[in-house]
Amino acid sequence: MGRVDAGAERHPAWCVVDHARPGAPSEHQADGVAVPVVALAAIRGQPSTAEARELVVVLHGDEEHRWLYVGDGEDQLLDLDPEGWRRVVAAVEVVLARAE
Ligand SMILES: [Zn+2]
Repeated sequence: MGRVDAGAERHPAWCVVDHARPGAPSEHQADGVAVPVVALAAIRGQPSTAEARELVVVLHGDEEHRWLYVGDGEDQLLDLDPEGWRRVVAAVEVVLARAE
């Protein structure tokens, strides 16, 4: 449970942002987890190439609406609700199992 200040928005327990710090985001955000991956980079008009990238997985939003961002901050990203991610992860397992 997040603490509740009188008249203030509920602050989720998983949020690590110090909202009082100048320049801090106003949105609630959890600690991220970095994931090294190899991604297929497509540049229009050129053959795709494999590139080492680092994705970050970050929970953000509020207690009512949570979003899970997975992306590299540039080209690659998905920002879905937790149930959407569960369906995507299950589908990934199905697709990979079919190819084994
Ligand atoms: Zn917060």
